[in-house]
Amino acid sequence: MTSGPLVVSTWNHGRAANEAAWALLSEGGDSLDAVEAGARAVETDPSFTSVGFGGLPDREGEVTLDALIMNHEGDCGAVSCLREVRHPISVARKVMEDTPHVMLTGKGALQFALEQGFEREDLLTEYAEERWRKSLENEDFKPIANVEDHDTVGVLALDASGRLAGACSTSGLAGKMSGRVGDSPIAGAGLFVDGEVGVACATGVGELAMRALSSFFMVQLMRDGASPQEACEQAIRRVVEKQDIGDSQLGVLALDIQGRVGSYAIREGFTFATRTPVSDVVNPSSHQAQ
Ligand code: ASP
Repeated sequence: MTSGPLVVSTWNHGRAANEAAWALLSEGGDSLDAVEAGARAVETDPSFTSVGFGGLPDREGEVTLDALIMNHEGDCGAVSCLREVRHPISVARKVMEDTPHVMLTGKGALQFALEQGFEREDLLTEYAEERWRKSLENEDFKPIANVEDHDTVGVLALDASGRLAGACSTSGLAGKMSGRVGDSPIAGAGLFVDGEVGVACATGVGELAMRALSSFFMVQLMRDGASPQEACEQAIRRVVEKQDIGDSQLGVLALDIQGRVGSYAIREGFTFATRTPVSDVVNPSSHQAQ
């Protein structure tokens, strides 16, 4: 007995991700195909400026992408610091399925993508370039919480056969240092799946989730009996108690094998989208009182 199909995705752009994922899930499709399709829908749309094509560049003006995909058996594939390929999530899936490795980075990731037949293209849109040029006027790099509601897309799905999967994709923090990799491509930090238990992901200032392995932590809490909501709240509390969070934002989302969903954030502004046979909505997440 399962409560799938169901898909939840981070931020308002999660709705676009859910729509693509739902087209597969509602026809009895596999959760892994669904989460990949969901991430691709956001990657290809330049109006979402922190994922894929049109993503905001690093301090040097380079668009570098991170992505991770994971199936119900715990297999995973990731790319980090990938340039000039619109769909890092699909390259990550190829890493999972066609190599003995978990992550390829930088030049090697691009070389692998090209060998696999992915097209090479300029991902820096005029709008993103203009934003980058303006940002150079500020001396210091400082991420601003919820500056726009389109950060990493994390897509978590449970299919009609009870298989869980997750995907996340991002251009990372706008104005990051060259070579910086965030939480998203790190299994256990930006995303984690345990096919018997649940799946969880994080978005916001990735360093916070990397230090705490927040996604693994949430899934482990669910394994120990916590509901997805309890797991999300505990993960955020752990980050707030142990780290100097400044005015950063971190939002987390979790889905368990029973189809229950949880979300929580350090501060107001985090949203997530839910798609089930009976609903298609964007929800504001609960958050820690500030
Ligand atoms: N977590 C991502 C990173 O730090 C960015 C985000 O989700 O806003 O790269």
